[in-house]
Amino acid sequence: MAKTKYVYFFGAGKAEGNGSQKNLLGGKGANLAEMAGHPKLKLPVPPGFTVSTDVCTYYYDNRRRYPPELKAQVDAAIRKTERVMKKKFCDPKNPLLLSVRSGARVSMPGMMETVLNIGLTSKTIPGLIKQTGGNSRFVYDAYRRLITMYSDVVMEKAAGIEPKEGKGIRHQIEHLFEKKKKALGVTEDTDVGAEDLKDLCEDMKKLVKKVLDKSFPDDGEKQLWGGLGAVFASWNGMRAIKYREVEGIPHEWGTAVNVQTMVFGNMGDTCATGVAFSRDPGRDVKDIFYGEYLVNAQGEDVVAGIRTPAPINKASQSADNKDLVTLEKIMPGPYKELNAIQKRLERHYRDMQDIEFTIEDHKLFMLQCRVGKRNGTAAVRIAVDMVKEKLITVKEAVCRVSGAQLDEWLHDILDPEVEKKTKAVAKGLPAGPGGAQGKIVFTSEEAERVAKLDAHNDVQGEPVILVREETNPEDVKGMWASEAILTQRGGMTSHAALVARGWGKCCIVGCAELDIDAKRKTLKIGKRVFKSGDSLSLNGSTGNVYAGEFPTIRPAISSKKKTSGKKTPGKTTTLSTFLKMCDKVRTLKVRTNAETPADAALARGFGAEGIGLFRTEHMFYGGDPEALACLRRMILAGDKKAQQKAINQLFRFVKKDIKGTLKAMKGLPVTIRLLDPPLHEFIPHEDKGLRKIARELKTPFAEVKKRADSLHEVNPMMGHRGVRLGITHPEVTEMYVRAILEAAGELSKKGIRVFPEIMVPVVAVETEMAHQFELIRGVHKAVCKKLGVRKVNHMVGTMIETPRACLIADKLVEHGAEFFSFGTNDLTQMTFGFSRDDIGGFMGEYLDQGIIAADPFQTLDKGVKKLVKKGVKKSRKVDPKLKVGICGEHGGDPASVKFCHHVGMNYVSCSPYRVPIARLAAAQAVAEE
Ligand code: PEP
Ligand code: MG
Repeated sequence: MAKTKYVYFFGAGKAEGNGSQKNLLGGKGANLAEMAGHPKLKLPVPPGFTVSTDVCTYYYDNRRRYPPELKAQVDAAIRKTERVMKKKFCDPKNPLLLSVRSGARVSMPGMMETVLNIGLTSKTIPGLIKQTGGNSRFVYDAYRRLITMYSDVVMEKAAGIEPKEGKGIRHQIEHLFEKKKKALGVTEDTDVGAEDLKDLCEDMKKLVKKVLDKSFPDDGEKQLWGGLGAVFASWNGMRAIKYREVEGIPHEWGTAVNVQTMVFGNMGDTCATGVAFSRDPGRDVKDIFYGEYLVNAQGEDVVAGIRTPAPINKASQSADNKDLVTLEKIMPGPYKELNAIQKRLERHYRDMQDIEFTIEDHKLFMLQCRVGKRNGTAAVRIAVDMVKEKLITVKEAVCRVSGAQLDEWLHDILDPEVEKKTKAVAKGLPAGPGGAQGKIVFTSEEAERVAKLDAHNDVQGEPVILVREETNPEDVKGMWASEAILTQRGGMTSHAALVARGWGKCCIVGCAELDIDAKRKTLKIGKRVFKSGDSLSLNGSTGNVYAGEFPTIRPAISSKKKTSGKKTPGKTTTLSTFLKMCDKVRTLKVRTNAETPADAALARGFGAEGIGLFRTEHMFYGGDPEALACLRRMILAGDKKAQQKAINQLFRFVKKDIKGTLKAMKGLPVTIRLLDPPLHEFIPHEDKGLRKIARELKTPFAEVKKRADSLHEVNPMMGHRGVRLGITHPEVTEMYVRAILEAAGELSKKGIRVFPEIMVPVVAVETEMAHQFELIRGVHKAVCKKLGVRKVNHMVGTMIETPRACLIADKLVEHGAEFFSFGTNDLTQMTFGFSRDDIGGFMGEYLDQGIIAADPFQTLDKGVKKLVKKGVKKSRKVDPKLKVGICGEHGGDPASVKFCHHVGMNYVSCSPYRVPIARLAAAQAVAEE
């Protein structure tokens, strides 16, 4: 039987593996093989070998034993390495030193172990001193590092010893070193001389023996196998397991181990080590090689933060390091070679590379390359540039940017550096992305007062955070005045969430840890008490709440503030070029949910191709107060005459509102939904408001109050709302349809192109559809007569928001529906039986405990998807060309958008700020096919 190959050699222009073998060799091992052995690269990689991930699997399947053939294969690979290096492992005269590094399929930064300088023993130390021309300081420094790493990684961690905080061996050794430096009166490691280092190493070994009750091995072979075992053991260390759980990395993948010849960046001033990116990973700048380095240092020093690294070139200079000399200047030869290599690597891998290098006595070595991590700004820039450079295709480019990265262009964010260092005081649901800071206010009035809105609705006072149990339509003005909104209750489709997202405002909802006392104006979180006027900072993209004021950052070229206080997309060439690339690829249309001409214009700036949901009731939230007064009179009128009078008054407002939006959309489709919310939502909560209506209606207060009370429902979301209102109050439907069709007809007559789609909400029964369809047809006839036209262009359709509607979708088409729009907020609510306004109380815990994998109000759940699929399939059987879209909040969620593409929808509709993300996701759905 053929023996399994477990060990893969690389070096000297050859490699047994290659870059495609990440599963077998791990990311680092595969790339080392590619760099060393690919005919177009053949880069200066220190020779060595990779022990495959199969060994890790075997090790855990066989009670931590190695495959029998491993030892011979490792020995053979060491002999090969020795031949290339012309040195010998464990040889007293001409010793070869090795490094041992972990390397999983995907990078798990800082989760697993590394041991450097393996092979240094009392026998080889004199040989190495000789080899390095008597540089005993360097040799003992290397020995000190080996003892530190080995005792920590192999003798303590891999042995399962869990010392108390601050009592670990590494900590104790570092303490010993500090003591030594103090005694010598020096501060820098590099100021400790050879003899002192030699003494220190002896003291360290004694300390190891005392603390761990074992001697540090004075044998290279033992060190090597100890290192290998420690890497495999670290795969199942607590840190690594937790990391895999968070990142969704399968436990059975295992890690590979890379054993490689040591090269030294710490042998003196002709040596250096550094990390670099083939393009700037954080800014919207043209292709620049970007990185940092340290002279006379070993790899870990660059990231450890003990010394400030210097920039490799001028382009990498920042305020911190601008006075330090560049690598380009002090080592021009190796820099030139490094620069050429990074270009070659990028062309080869066709993506931005993150590289690690070491220069030993002016000779450059490549230690690692991998696809570089980048922020949103750089991700978009790099994708655009690489298409221009013909390095990647447009389809590839759209897959190189995530929805979250694109989002970074559209919102202010909390300074990530400050955020990294601060612990959140609470966590809620991330309902409106971006970051904000401000003073706490507990009421809408207080928000308006402190924020001091001017005539243009711009904040002139202090930024505020509105903290509420939940918001309601009466809070709209205060919400507008606030930088951000934080609520204790509610889910991703609660009032606060919908309104905030529509405005591009930061918002966190369902933050159950908040204990709000609005009367006393205090907010308790755990033991901390915040008062009105104290500061909070919110990250609406993660749901994290912080105490105090954080600086916020406006990402490079994002958007500019308009006088309305809302942001509009500015002329962002990199971003707009990228989004145009997305448009070239996608087939799914992207519309927006918008209710005002201003929102419509904003969304068009973001690329919306129509309005997928115009919620007619929004005009009553913060709009003209007289419109709301008319509506209230209509609802509370005692007889038909008074009611009709109120309806006629309301008609003017509705028509004007709709006309403005239809005009702003210039012929693009506008889906206008008939009145949906239960009527009691519009009635004042307090007697003061009811008294005013009573006066207007010339009706006794007690009577009006009785009528208002009679509208109360135990479960209004499943009560008298949507189409049910349209059927019990046909005069309301009639008024809305007349307003829509008259507005459209009048604009058409003036030569302005318009296209309204009238949408009936919350339909469950086919006869409901038929009833409304007939009614709308009748109004159309009357409007045509009035305007003297043959027809007014429009369509009549329905929202699909109930499970029953999905199951009888074919019947809805047969009964008049000319288009469908899936209202997945309500559909999710009704499929799960989760109240969309009350999930804050348990969703956090459901997610933490893994009861469900994701909040179904954020991303479409598989059960809801099944219903949607069924609905689309059934309806298209009757009308294969039926226009189908989605207008629930999922229309702006990348994963859900992709589903909508695959299920054959024509469009998605989402809030204006999510339009760019939907354009991207729709393009990715095609590119990934
Ligand atoms: C929906 O239910 O998905 C929807 C868009 O309507 P609303 O959120 O207004 O109920
Ligand atoms: Mg709905």
